[in-house]
Amino acid sequence: MSRIKILSENLCNKIAAGEVVERPASVVKELIENSLDAGADEILIDVESGGKKRIKIQDNGRGMSKDETFLSLERHATSKIESDEDLFRLTTLGFRGEALPSIAAVSRLSLQSRDVDSEAGWSLRVQGGRVENAEAVGMPVGTTIEVRNLFFNTPARRKFLRRDQTEIGHIGDVVSRQALSRPEVRFRLSHNGRVLIDALRTERIEERVAAILGREAVREMVSVTNEVDDLALHGLLSRPLYNRSATSAIYTYINGRYIRDRVVQHAVMDGYRNLLMKGRYPVVVLFLDLPPEMVDVNVHPTKHEVRFREQSQVHGFISSSVRNALRPAVSTSVVGVVPEEQPPARIEFPSETPVVADYRTDAATPSVIVHEPPVPYQPAELPAIGHSRRNEEQSSPFVLPEKNEPNGPAGSMSIIGQFHESYILCQDGNDLVLIDQHAAHERVSFERLRQQFYASGIEKQTLLFPTVLDFDFREAAQIKQRLDKLTQFGFEFEPFGGNSFALKAVPQLLKDFEAERLVRDVASELSELGESATMEDAFDHILATMACHSVVRANQKLGLDEMRSLLREIDTVDFSAHCPHGRPVMQRLSLAEIERMFKRA
Ligand code: ADP
Ligand code: MG
Repeated sequence: MSRIKILSENLCNKIAAGEVVERPASVVKELIENSLDAGADEILIDVESGGKKRIKIQDNGRGMSKDETFLSLERHATSKIESDEDLFRLTTLGFRGEALPSIAAVSRLSLQSRDVDSEAGWSLRVQGGRVENAEAVGMPVGTTIEVRNLFFNTPARRKFLRRDQTEIGHIGDVVSRQALSRPEVRFRLSHNGRVLIDALRTERIEERVAAILGREAVREMVSVTNEVDDLALHGLLSRPLYNRSATSAIYTYINGRYIRDRVVQHAVMDGYRNLLMKGRYPVVVLFLDLPPEMVDVNVHPTKHEVRFREQSQVHGFISSSVRNALRPAVSTSVVGVVPEEQPPARIEFPSETPVVADYRTDAATPSVIVHEPPVPYQPAELPAIGHSRRNEEQSSPFVLPEKNEPNGPAGSMSIIGQFHESYILCQDGNDLVLIDQHAAHERVSFERLRQQFYASGIEKQTLLFPTVLDFDFREAAQIKQRLDKLTQFGFEFEPFGGNSFALKAVPQLLKDFEAERLVRDVASELSELGESATMEDAFDHILATMACHSVVRANQKLGLDEMRSLLREIDTVDFSAHCPHGRPVMQRLSLAEIERMFKRA
């Protein structure tokens, strides 16, 4: 007798359920997807005891015929794809034909459905995967599915379920994600008879975001749309000052499907680079649309991860779209200094004009900043950085721009004075503008250092004793493939046999850092993302620290000229509202707001 046996259908379904049905929220997700695929524009979800006791989902979609109700419970039975090619041209949320039989295998499920061609609906009762009862019922067109006692026959699974509050939290997340992507569909979620979410049909994404994330969130968000070749993107992004402590409010969709993908998430954060404090995350609702053949969603049974054919192209598209969308938002709505039509930050400086603020008060910095350019890295349009001769002649911490230079939006504000030796007060049209002098100067210096750093390349520091580093095969392959990029960043490697490399030089700036760990992070990031941001993050971090050491402090009395210079300097950099540590630089009070304060309006 053979020891190898073919598993029973029922056991197969239970195994599949292990993948697809992890907790009540997974049931809700699968059932909502089915309702959406059936064209429903109203989905009502009723849950009891965190979904452990009962989940009921009622939709007004196209429903099923009698035969279809039976078929829908068979494994690999789907109306959504027929051929191999379909799998790479998915337009539906479901396609595996696994959800219903999997859920039915681990619960007591009842299904009622009626399509337009039928006089009545059909009602099936299924227990542990077996149809126990089937009868005709009167009902409107659509489908209602009720799942009771989830995991009643798989106690090991049941033990993993959490408190009701935790489970309903997960269900709420699932409903929110789906609801955000389909404003034209009404979603209602109630728990133990209490309505938690009721998002009415709307054509405006802003309305839907308000219903799910709250009115305040929408007020703090700006819209983004962009299209390049086959890639299109639209959505809403929070202004940097409106942020959260976790990534949970980053909602990203690919071709209408909610995904939580590393590449996409990283690209979004890349777009916010330098705008958020460490450990803070934006609120984002972003829809990416691309030809279905450019993305494989069939990677994971719950379909949250994807694989892109042109990964770094997609990454670049997302991050630059986000970055560009935030620019005007940051300056007009948060800072308010730069009008929307503001041309890109001015970058050509008269060659005699000193452009670096007096960072040389910090003795450690010049050796790093001032050196012969070994690797020209940045395109030539960046300013050539000279030394400040003027700084030697005068004690002002600021660099005075040429007198005949026209004023930018910040430079042309009229200065009222200094408050508490820390804030500059200005009048700009009808607005009162408050500027944190330290934060502003820090931002200016940071941008300058950064431009200079990238303009003149990255200096290497040769190690006295080369370190031999071992990598796994994926990392090693990446390193071999990207040796030139790593060299550009100031690393020097020599193959050392197998998956090992001798590290002979590291970036000068990072010599005090754990270069080894950085190399590892960079290598694994390169392999996952197709490009690395870690390195740039690291550099930014160091530049920010240097900038912070070099600038005017709070509690420092400034003369009118000094204040004026700072304002004019603000106009000369790619200024984005925050000091490099993410604190705001400017705040603005409108005349109307002030009048309201005094009950005049
Ligand atoms: P899949 O969604 O991958 O096709 P499911 O097991 O989730 O697999 O569903 C099987 C089939 O049952 C679907 O292809 C669809 O034809 C039908 N079905 C499921 N739910 C509904 C619904 N709410 N309305 C209409 N048809 C449905
Ligand atoms: Mg499905």
